Amino acid sequence: MAAQAGTRFLVRIEDLDRGRAREEFVKGIFEDLHWLGLTWEEPVLHQSSRMEAYQSALSRLQKKELLYPCFCSRAHISEEIARAIEAPHFDPLSAPPTGPDGPHYPGTCRHLDGQERSNRIASGAPYTLRLDVAKTAKQTGPLTLREKNETVAVDPFLFGDPVLARKDVPASYHLAVVVDDAFQNVDLVTRGEDLGPAAHIQRLLQTLLKLPQPAYAHHRLILDDDGRKFSKRDQAVTLRQMRADGAKAEDIRARLVVMGLP
Ligand SMILES: [Zn+2]
Repeated sequence: MAAQAGTRFLVRIEDLDRGRAREEFVKGIFEDLHWLGLTWEEPVLHQSSRMEAYQSALSRLQKKELLYPCFCSRAHISEEIARAIEAPHFDPLSAPPTGPDGPHYPGTCRHLDGQERSNRIASGAPYTLRLDVAKTAKQTGPLTLREKNETVAVDPFLFGDPVLARKDVPASYHLAVVVDDAFQNVDLVTRGEDLGPAAHIQRLLQTLLKLPQPAYAHHRLILDDDGRKFSKRDQAVTLRQMRADGAKAEDIRARLVVMGLP
């Protein structure tokens, strides 16, 4: 986590969901990281200030005709998946595949024609923009990514057609980090192994947007006694709580090294 010779240490505030990233929380993050003994380059990049860059990346993907509007609500998608599974002629081989985030979006809106799409958008129906991964894979051809000095084949179909933008935010997590990693010249992405599969989608986007390819190093997660991931509500593992419980910064730094963080 410390910047080694010739490297830079950056902090990025991923506050796409602007409602949630209140200023006091951001201040708290800086305070906890300083306590841990970390220093970083200023100014810190806030994703909420980068909407124009995301919009421009999104427009480039739209020009390639790789995005389509999806008018389904979350409830509607769950209903459709349930219906497919409960159908009397249920065929497990043709059921929507399941990925790291659960069953894939069944692709309902991928088949709407241009007129229907324009009509629904003109009527003010809310929609998201999804990436057509089958079309994308045809354009990019087979890809690989670098994970801890190994070359891994990219699976473009891991998540189905992911959402890349919402009505009020022109970027999903995947699109924003890809644009920002390139903008900040990030050449090594170190993050939790729960985000390992996300690298596959991000590699697709880097290729489509002609951005440089960083290497990835996904590290183990701290799990609770039952082997489950701690949730954000689980205060016990926040730096803030560990400080309050009297933990020493050097002990926490040593623990991060054990987890495989530089
Ligand atoms: Zn849809």
